[in-house]
Amino acid sequence: MPAYDDSNIFARILRKEIPNDTVLETEHTLAFRDIRPQAPVHVLVIPKGPYVSYEDFAGNASDAEIVDFHRAVARITRDLKLDLDGGQGFRAITNAGAHGVQEVPHFHMHILGGRVMGRMVA
Ligand code: 5GP
Repeated sequence: MPAYDDSNIFARILRKEIPNDTVLETEHTLAFRDIRPQAPVHVLVIPKGPYVSYEDFAGNASDAEIVDFHRAVARITRDLKLDLDGGQGFRAITNAGAHGVQEVPHFHMHILGGRVMGRMVA
């Protein structure tokens, strides 16, 4: 696992050095709109802790952080009417490392919705 680099853009957002369009903030999690949205709804959900990628977070974060993160994802899908009770669904993606084409080395989950997604091929 590469060392966490706290100069990455999401670390700077967490330190409030640069602004963000917050959708939800909890004790351990922040969610905000992607600056280059790829769908009508495109939200990034990040833990506040310094985790590089999904397996770093899932393997090393506390149970409280992991539960808080996933409850935040569920709440966002409900609040933005993407869930299967209030809406038409969504896509959740996380990219890791070079093969995953991860741009920002702070674990994040993309929540995409508001249109029919393309079929995933790669
Ligand atoms: P990745 O390719 O790492 O999974 O996705 C990184 C995402 O972060 C991209 O969708 C990109 O548009 C978004 N992003 C990069 N810089 C910023 C920023 O300064 N603010 C926000 N809100 N999103 C950003």
